[in-house]
Amino acid sequence: MKLYSLQTGLLGVNSYFLVNEKNNQAILIDGGESYKSIKKAESDLGVKITALLLTHAHFDHAGNAAKLQNEGVKVYIGEKDAEKLSNSLNLAGDFGRKFECLTPDFTLFDGQVLDINDVKIKVISTPGHTDGSVSYLVEDMLFTGDTLFNLSVGRTDFPTGDKTQLFNSIKKLFAFDGDYRVFPGHGEFTSLDFERKNNPLVDYD
Ligand SMILES: [Zn+2]
Repeated sequence: MKLYSLQTGLLGVNSYFLVNEKNNQAILIDGGESYKSIKKAESDLGVKITALLLTHAHFDHAGNAAKLQNEGVKVYIGEKDAEKLSNSLNLAGDFGRKFECLTPDFTLFDGQVLDINDVKIKVISTPGHTDGSVSYLVEDMLFTGDTLFNLSVGRTDFPTGDKTQLFNSIKKLFAFDGDYRVFPGHGEFTSLDFERKNNPLVDYD
């Protein structure tokens, strides 16, 4: 399995391709807003996206989900964020952006293990940035969306955000055994161990 990343959109969202090199099928984590950029990356990589895993429903992460779903890509999201893909809580309106609504193909719960394209993905419920935010664990990689960033954490001032929940979610990740590479929804990549020791916003020891 190979990982590719790209950053798109005004808000610089990180999108991740998990590619099974045996069949060139790809799982996309957070497609961002730009359909064109994702289709270009898909074609440059010579892969076919079969699944889109969303960390949460905000428009900057999920803006191209409807278009991808229209071509047969299966869309996955935490159960409490599912409705935000068709209401104003995806925040597109607040930021003056267009958003094509959709109903996800699958809603996810904490601890669920997905097996897509021979890749095993564990769903970890990490509410706080939104109440339905999830992180995805794949081998030694943790995709944290807008929950945990390099030396920072996600905002909790949007609807359904909750500061206490966010810090509890991050502590839940920090309590994992050993180290993991961390791939956040915005900004630089980091590692769980580095954040345990250095994240200035999370009190952990
Ligand atoms: Zn967000």
